[in-house]
Amino acid sequence: MNSKVIPLVDLKKQYQTLQLEIQDAMNQVIEQTAFVRGPFVSKFEKEYADLMGVKHCIGVANGTDALFVTLKMMGIGPGDEVITTASSWISTSETISLTGATPIFVDIDATTYTIDPGLIERSITKRTKAILPVHLYGQMADIDTIRQICDRHTLLLVEDCAQAHLAIRDGIVAGNAGDAATFSFYPGKNLGAFGDAGCVITNNDDLANKVRRYANHGAIVKHHHDVEGINSRLDGLQAAILSVKLPHLRDWTRRRRDVAATYDTLLDDIPNITTPTKVTNSQHAYHLYVIRCDRRDELREHLATNHISTGIHYPKPLPHLDAYAHISPQQKRVPVAEQASQEILSIPMYPEMTPSQISCVADSIRDFYTRCN
Ligand SMILES: *Cc1c(COP(=O)(O)O)cnc(C)c1O
Repeated sequence: MNSKVIPLVDLKKQYQTLQLEIQDAMNQVIEQTAFVRGPFVSKFEKEYADLMGVKHCIGVANGTDALFVTLKMMGIGPGDEVITTASSWISTSETISLTGATPIFVDIDATTYTIDPGLIERSITKRTKAILPVHLYGQMADIDTIRQICDRHTLLLVEDCAQAHLAIRDGIVAGNAGDAATFSFYPGKNLGAFGDAGCVITNNDDLANKVRRYANHGAIVKHHHDVEGINSRLDGLQAAILSVKLPHLRDWTRRRRDVAATYDTLLDDIPNITTPTKVTNSQHAYHLYVIRCDRRDELREHLATNHISTGIHYPKPLPHLDAYAHISPQQKRVPVAEQASQEILSIPMYPEMTPSQISCVADSIRDFYTRCN
């Protein structure tokens, strides 16, 4: 048995391939003392907007702020409702609450784990201002249908793309369907900084301007505070590191898809598990490779014994977190998300995974079910 640990993600391996370039980029920032905003940030913003095919990219301090600032600058606040998915990281819903608005949770689709578009319209009320789908694990939500719902009801659409850099569905790259989209560059994300970082992308000039201003104390020009704002800026070191990494993002995404394809082949015939669904006309970005399985917790223990790290994303649907103890029982009724949360398991996934690591994980899973059946 291989005694080397197979981690869920391996940030060190990626760093080692770019070590000199990254150190050089960091040195330049330090030499120029361009620590906050400045030329390295502008450069990265331009590069990222170009890659995403949008007019504006505004760097902010993290992906959570990207959501908050976007919603707030869209004018969402007290008395408003924003419809979002029952299954995500808490940033998605806590930022809705932070504006003063109320998150309305909608159950997920059982195969993609993203918001079920068929359940959205019954949750729309007079107070609804926006829909906030999450492209969970790198799988895009049914954005075409959601866009149509938004158009029909004159609602804003914000895409949470924190896990979905370069995912595509029906010819639309994640972040291009909404009025705005937000990204996280948290170290473990598909494009990761060396600390917290995030951005907002949009084609709307007015929104871009407001987001940029609000995230910088309400000022575009120094000391000209048109409004009050907050301090949520991308710093120069993170931007310079992201600029070094960005040219590799397509290749890393391709490699994630290759790893996933290998897993698919190796795991497909094990009846106790379901591999991630492949949606027609869609390309998953595989931030996570999430299987659904029988006896999840036992499998997880078995893998841990074999030095294979796993994760659960996420152990509870958002409306079942203690933070939402106050919401109505009806809002908590998300049976599909609830069942998924008990059966899902994230297995190691990163671009640098070797074929032997992939088969080691797959063999270990097969071994568990063969011995236990
Ligand atoms: C990571 C993540 C965020 C928040 O990003 P941070 O940069 O960690 O603040 C938001 N939404 C989702 C779905 C995420 O996975």
